Amino acid sequence: MDKQIYIDKAEEVLYKTYNRFGLVLDKGEGVYLYDTDGKKYLDFAAGIAVCAFGYNNKEYSDALKDQIDKLMHTSNLFYNVPSMEAGEKLTKAAGMDKVFFTNSGTEAIEGAIKIARRYAYDKDGCDDHEIIAMEHSFHGRSLGALSVTGNEKYQAPFRPLIGGIKFAKYNDLESVKALVNEKTCAIILETLQGEGGIYPATDEFIKGIRKICDDNDILMICDEIQCGMGRTGRMFAYEHYDVLPDVVTVAKAVGCGVPVGAFMAKGKAAYALVPGDHGTTYGGNPLATRAVSTVMDMFEKHNVISHVTEVSKYFEKVLEDIVNDYDFITERRGMGLMQGLVCEKPVGEVVAKSIENGLIVISAGGNVIRFVPPLVITPEHIDEMAEILRTVLNSMK
Ligand SMILES: *Cc1c(COP(=O)(O)O)cnc(C)c1O
Repeated sequence: MDKQIYIDKAEEVLYKTYNRFGLVLDKGEGVYLYDTDGKKYLDFAAGIAVCAFGYNNKEYSDALKDQIDKLMHTSNLFYNVPSMEAGEKLTKAAGMDKVFFTNSGTEAIEGAIKIARRYAYDKDGCDDHEIIAMEHSFHGRSLGALSVTGNEKYQAPFRPLIGGIKFAKYNDLESVKALVNEKTCAIILETLQGEGGIYPATDEFIKGIRKICDDNDILMICDEIQCGMGRTGRMFAYEHYDVLPDVVTVAKAVGCGVPVGAFMAKGKAAYALVPGDHGTTYGGNPLATRAVSTVMDMFEKHNVISHVTEVSKYFEKVLEDIVNDYDFITERRGMGLMQGLVCEKPVGEVVAKSIENGLIVISAGGNVIRFVPPLVITPEHIDEMAEILRTVLNSMK
């Protein structure tokens, strides 16, 4: 069928909260996507840092098909084997003690906020605790997650949001210190800011936050929803800084396509929530957690972390060459396979033209071309990406 018929139908029925690109995706194979016209796209977005193994991966699909035939859902009133297995693998990899599976990243953030408030409430019984979040952050769209998202445009139409949230400047430890008081129960941050424009944290900042939290019995919450799961060349980005947070949130690549997220906690924070405090019908169901368990196995079996470390050296070099060759591409930022190019020409145009030319990239922070490809890309894919991107950038000189 003509793709315009699909698009018109979609616009007729789907709530318009997105401005979508005019292509209708139909299937995927490896790191390529195909639309309903049969046109092929090299995918450097991976469904927004989700599809770490690309598309139609047999090992992953076979595991899920097996689980679909066995048991997809039970409810959290009973135990099931996949959630136990996924929980064990994920907490071990993260250095955490406990995990709660959610259906999305935003729900993982909700849980993290509840842990923080509950933890502080247990100490002093007060109901006016504060959380320090970061400017230019992104933690999701539900009201709790939106409340800690430092983006005026996203927040303004939906006030009042949850109370007690203060915003500090990312990578500015003094701005965090200035907000700490006896009511502070948590500091929440992305270990590497994604949506806000691909800003890696400095070593001083992450270590400094850990120290502030230790000194004041405040929980450090690292949002690893985008930068976790191997994307930066470590399973979790905080490993680069030799710190362990008290609470970690994951989603996106943890399910590689099945909608699932999780919040994890260690130490006293792992026991803050008690029976009756939190729940979900779908969260961590056998299908979702079989996906997580399979993903964890595949990371180990295929040495994904060392592949990312290796291939991202080449990726960085290729991006640096682009910075050198184009005046309007002024900076590369990022870690591992989470990279951004700062672009002084309209980034929406770069993205749209790339897609026209068969390359899927996305934007971040208004002026950054964001690259979050499947983790299994090879140097050949990087060359192919650079060739298409250069064609696009040449046309904009
Ligand atoms: C995507 C994202 C979220 C929200 O996750 P959803 O699954 O879209 O709810 C939260 N935090 C970060 C850092 C993200 O990148």
